[in-house]
Amino acid sequence: MPGQAKAPRNLVHLSGNTYLLRGSPITIVYKEGDAAYIIDPGHGSKRVKQLRQALSDLSVSKSVVLITHYHSDHLGITGKLEPDEVIAPDQDALFVKDPELRILVTFGYPIPPGHPSLPFDAPGVEVTRRLKPGLPVGPLETVHLPGHTPGQVGVITPDNVLYLADSAFGPRVLENYYIPYHLDYPRALRILYKIRDEIARDADTIVFGHGPLVGKLEALAIIDENIRHHEEIMRKTIENAPGYTVEEIVTRILLEAGRKPTLQLVLLASGSIRSIIAKEYGLDISEGRIIARRD
Ligand SMILES: [Zn+2]
Repeated sequence: MPGQAKAPRNLVHLSGNTYLLRGSPITIVYKEGDAAYIIDPGHGSKRVKQLRQALSDLSVSKSVVLITHYHSDHLGITGKLEPDEVIAPDQDALFVKDPELRILVTFGYPIPPGHPSLPFDAPGVEVTRRLKPGLPVGPLETVHLPGHTPGQVGVITPDNVLYLADSAFGPRVLENYYIPYHLDYPRALRILYKIRDEIARDADTIVFGHGPLVGKLEALAIIDENIRHHEEIMRKTIENAPGYTVEEIVTRILLEAGRKPTLQLVLLASGSIRSIIAKEYGLDISEGRIIARRD
């Protein structure tokens, strides 16, 4: 039809100028004038092609990538898109740029980039602007959602679409991993309360980094489910802790929930559990075992 813009290939139209590319993570694309803002481009060569086609259909001459946090699955293909700008939260920017430090801070020990035991591998990405969370990126609002990583941001587009990145997960992720990964688990739980009580309230559409595309009511129910799930893991950690090492606690929680404690699952979940133990003042350590504090 004359005058009607062609729908961009591969993208789902959400509202106004806000689109998304399905995947895990979901990528948000916002178009303003001749610029496209791409939030978390994701990973994998198929996505490079999909996003290039979409940008070509949107007829933009400029692209700005906003990376919500330093995890490799969210930023892997950034360089291949050859964006004009790459923006990342100030506290996360160093780990966006340096894959060795990224792996070290994610797992707590070094694994060489390219090693098969890494769930995702991604090169370093040059950051052109370090974002103070809460400050805007062009037309986009940002909100600080620390816990999963120190600097993680959520994004609100002018169409009132809220992208939560990895501050809350879809039901399938909670089911599969059972102990969700957060660098600072108690802080991630506090942020979930803030999302429920303040941040998500006024949004028209809520999008999870890894989760289903659902209406607002269902999204709010998923946030509630995240809170319940995260509280349960905290409780189980504290209950299971006395007498055990961190890895034993993880194994016990996974077995109790009927999950197979694979090496990768135990190693990844140990970071989350360690961050709970570190902040739980009722616990102490004696002869290499965690004990209930007596004083
Ligand atoms: Zn993440």
